[in-house]
Amino acid sequence: MAKKDIDWHNLGFGYVKTDKRYVSNFKDSAWDDGALISDDTITISECAGVLQYAQTVFEGLKAYTTEDGHVVCFRPDLNAERLEQSAKRLEMPAFPQDRFVDAVVQTVKANIDYVPPYGSGATLYIRPYMFGTNAVIGVKPADEYQFRVFTTPVGPYFKGGAKPITIRVSDFDRAAPHGTGHIKAGLNYAMSLHAIVDAHNQGFAENVYLDAATRTKIEETGGANILFITKDNKVVTPKSNSILPSITRRSLLIVAKEYLGLEVEEREVYLDEVKDFAECGLCGTAAVISPVGKINDHGKEICFPSGMEEMGPITKKLYETLTGIQMGRIEAPKGWIKVIE
Ligand SMILES: *Cc1c(COP(=O)(O)O)cnc(C)c1O
Repeated sequence: MAKKDIDWHNLGFGYVKTDKRYVSNFKDSAWDDGALISDDTITISECAGVLQYAQTVFEGLKAYTTEDGHVVCFRPDLNAERLEQSAKRLEMPAFPQDRFVDAVVQTVKANIDYVPPYGSGATLYIRPYMFGTNAVIGVKPADEYQFRVFTTPVGPYFKGGAKPITIRVSDFDRAAPHGTGHIKAGLNYAMSLHAIVDAHNQGFAENVYLDAATRTKIEETGGANILFITKDNKVVTPKSNSILPSITRRSLLIVAKEYLGLEVEEREVYLDEVKDFAECGLCGTAAVISPVGKINDHGKEICFPSGMEEMGPITKKLYETLTGIQMGRIEAPKGWIKVIE
């Protein structure tokens, strides 16, 4: 076994096929034993539930090499739990949480030569997902499902350092109250594509969505939760039932409290008060934290004092502490790091 001949430092964010993927099928009310296979293609009915009514949910996490040379992933038990919550909301069967973690471990082990080396900034992205496979034409849940895990190596999120981005307040809504904003489902992304293409065309990196009911409160962006830092160094993050519970955000709040001794507030955050914050960042598995320098609200610019050159100082401490924990340079809370090899 030898590492693949890949230019890790210049890897982008595209899909790169790796050797093995994990597949388990649900039929007659039970999951089969599951197996690693080589075929990267899927053959299903033209009338499959996923194709007609978007019955699909997913997860995203990373495997990477720590300073002492282990291949690990970060809190996969929380991805297992979240996939189950997402599946329930779309009337899909739960994939047992211990089997989820085992499937992730098996898939990473089978593709271990694609795990980028420590220090490269690259990682092996892991995508577990589940979808309805049998024919469904009347609107109802499928009876048969496939759970699958594939991996793909991805490059460093920030090439040449994390530069703050400008995001805009979107006129589109992401999630309705009592809707599906809190689950990780493809349907939440399909509807965001138009908004993101439009944002990019207007020169913005991302959309920040407001609560759909009153359009006065900050929710999150299309694929990341949002954090603010007050001028007196408190960490503030929006509370809402239509936000996806980011594992990165939940971990950062623990890091803020337990490692940095910062005060943390999870509460409703009004667009009107954003101008008073000192720093802002987007958090998710891909980047951990992307600093936000500016929010454009219909032509009115909200500029954070941390500016457009670098991460704000508290954001940076949060980022360095969490990535330090992930990479094994700082001792992790119990159960956060799952050693694969
Ligand atoms: C996946 C996702 C996030 C980030 O969650 P992590 O668990 O931190 O990767 C945030 N918002 C949305 C809408 C997401 O789909």
